[in-house]
Amino acid sequence: MILEQDGYPFSFNSDACAACKGHCCTGEPGYIWVSAPEMTAIAAHLQIDPEQFKSEYLEKVGYKYSIRELKRNGGHECLFFDERISGCSIYHVRPSQCRTFPFWDYFLHHPKEAGEECPGIIYHSSY
Ligand code: SF4
Repeated sequence: MILEQDGYPFSFNSDACAACKGHCCTGEPGYIWVSAPEMTAIAAHLQIDPEQFKSEYLEKVGYKYSIRELKRNGGHECLFFDERISGCSIYHVRPSQCRTFPFWDYFLHHPKEAGEECPGIIYHSSY
């Protein structure tokens, strides 16, 4: 499926995810922000208490929470990245940050980096 968003100089071909090894969930360290409603939804999905979810899966950064990462294969991976499926093990309840990739404010201002990270990026001919 080709996805577009106003203002971005690229489209995103979500079919590329099948052959990609999870470049958006692995690699450079970063933050994977989770809101309070998302914490509740993910904890329910995992069938654990939200407090247990917070202490086992999240790190507090200032007043916000981010999913912890593992150091693996020479890089960093989200705790929920599953190598066996090369994808997200909580896909249906993944945070908004993951759902909105690659249409992030950061890539609006650094569109070249989106293409370096994701094989599904197709630049518009005018770019
Ligand atoms: S929650 Fe899922 S989609 Fe988001 S970074 Fe982690 S593995 Fe990737």
